[in-house]
Amino acid sequence: MAAKDLKTGYRKNFSLIITFIILMSVLFLLSLALAYRFSTKFIENEFVSEKVNVLEQSIRPYNDFFQKKLPEVSYYNGYLDSATAGSFADTLLMQYPFVSKVIFYDSEVRNTPVADGLNTGRFSFGPKSIYQFGPLVPLDSVKLFSRERPRNFVIGDDFNALAIKLVSYIETLDTSKTPSQEELFSNFSNIRSNKITYLNIPRIEDLKTYKTMIRRELKSMPVYQQDMMTFQLDPGKIRIINSRPLLYQNIRIEPVTYDPLTLSEAYLTTEITLPGPFSDYKLYFVSSRSFIDREILSYFLPVATGILVFYGIVVLVAFLIYRNLNINQKMFKLQYDFMNNLTHEFKTPVSVIKIAGNNIRSAGSLSQKELSTYGKILDEEADKLNGLMNKLLAFTQIENKSIELNRDRVDIDEFLSGTVDTHRLKHPDFDFTYEVQGFSSFVTDPVLLGSLFDNLAENAYKYSPAHRKKLHVAAKLIKGKVVFHFTDQGIGIPASELGNIFKKFFRVQNQYNQNGSVGLGLAFCKEVVNFMEGEITVRSKVDKGTEFKIVLPFND
Ligand code: ADP
Repeated sequence: MAAKDLKTGYRKNFSLIITFIILMSVLFLLSLALAYRFSTKFIENEFVSEKVNVLEQSIRPYNDFFQKKLPEVSYYNGYLDSATAGSFADTLLMQYPFVSKVIFYDSEVRNTPVADGLNTGRFSFGPKSIYQFGPLVPLDSVKLFSRERPRNFVIGDDFNALAIKLVSYIETLDTSKTPSQEELFSNFSNIRSNKITYLNIPRIEDLKTYKTMIRRELKSMPVYQQDMMTFQLDPGKIRIINSRPLLYQNIRIEPVTYDPLTLSEAYLTTEITLPGPFSDYKLYFVSSRSFIDREILSYFLPVATGILVFYGIVVLVAFLIYRNLNINQKMFKLQYDFMNNLTHEFKTPVSVIKIAGNNIRSAGSLSQKELSTYGKILDEEADKLNGLMNKLLAFTQIENKSIELNRDRVDIDEFLSGTVDTHRLKHPDFDFTYEVQGFSSFVTDPVLLGSLFDNLAENAYKYSPAHRKKLHVAAKLIKGKVVFHFTDQGIGIPASELGNIFKKFFRVQNQYNQNGSVGLGLAFCKEVVNFMEGEITVRSKVDKGTEFKIVLPFND
């Protein structure tokens, strides 16, 4: 019955463990797969979203040029000449490589018509001279046009477009209000493909005068200086800043219409249009799949490690809980066995006493021999009960530290021969010998020492086959300590059990302890030795024998 229980119990645990392991493995693999999918999605999203940052960083010099440098033209209030315009253009060309050429229109506004330029009402706006600056401009071609020597030069779209923009702005200008800086900036600049034209912003009073000129209301003939500049831009010269070199393998500038049809699945691409005058172009991002996979992996690995650690901890905790449950189960079984054995131990003498009592009562008269037999039986059984109770009591007392260690001088030879005699009397087939070396007496608790010897001698007798019931005790004084060796030639203890035999209620299952073993003897010995400030150890070989060693302090 017990074996069957054990089997089913084991099987139950086994299937539970297998289920747990399978479940954990499935969950683990699932989380890894999910983490990988998540990493892929994340990096693919980054591939699309991070382009904004690349654009922002790459276009920063342009924004700087547009927002800070352009308005500087206005500082000169229209009084730029070819030399100052030239040096201004040079610093620009140096600082911003994407500016390829600067054209400077040294112009004026007046109310007498101009041959080259724009005439509306009495508002005339035209260049006096035009210069061009740039690394590829030959020295003799710097001056393009002058009013005195027009050289067949057509002023062109850039000037005219901004001039028209200026006129229509002035026409709609509400002179009772001060226009905002943004309004002025956007109306005095013109952004076209790869080009920005900028006109210096006149004072508000001048704008009002310009308005009256358009309405033909101005009598006097003033002349106002205006500077206009056209910046030709080359998007190919924008320095691309790849802020995510592990994400984007290649970034280049392509026309917005660029769309390679032959691009294979092995590549990931995305694009973003450049702003302002570069809007005909885009940043084009390309990465090969294998390149992206590396980035995905470098994102996935730490996540996978995290998952691994997490599952490792869960498994460890599960293992600890399982082990604890197992220990509890074992403890429960030990307690159960102990109660069983103890009841049995008590039951045997009690029933013998009961039978003897019944016999005495029912017998009419008893002979002298019968009387002494019953008397002996009752006496022996009462002794057994008493012994059992004493053992339990002593154990509890020692455990609770509620007894005191007695200190008496013990003559070792006398003690040993007494012990040997008692055991031989009990078991005539017990070959119990002893030897003493190095001392003749020491101070200790004789009662506790006696119970140590009784327990070990009983075990040596009990756990030896009939023809090898032998025990040799050697008592020696070694390095100021009393050392006892108990050597028997019994059945021995398997190495795997040696760590357990001193535990309470523990028994090695064998044919010798089916009856009357509670598994308390060695646990009791260990408690007693500890209480006496000594040590007990064991060495054993199955089928050869066992040797217990007790070391006690030598108090002289
Ligand atoms: P028990 O009441 O079962 O004898 P013990 O605590 O005295 O309990 O011993 C625990 C177990 O150690 C025993 O069940 C027995 O199997 C083993 N044992 C103890 N002493 C010996 C020995 N001298 N030789 C072989 N086995 C022994």
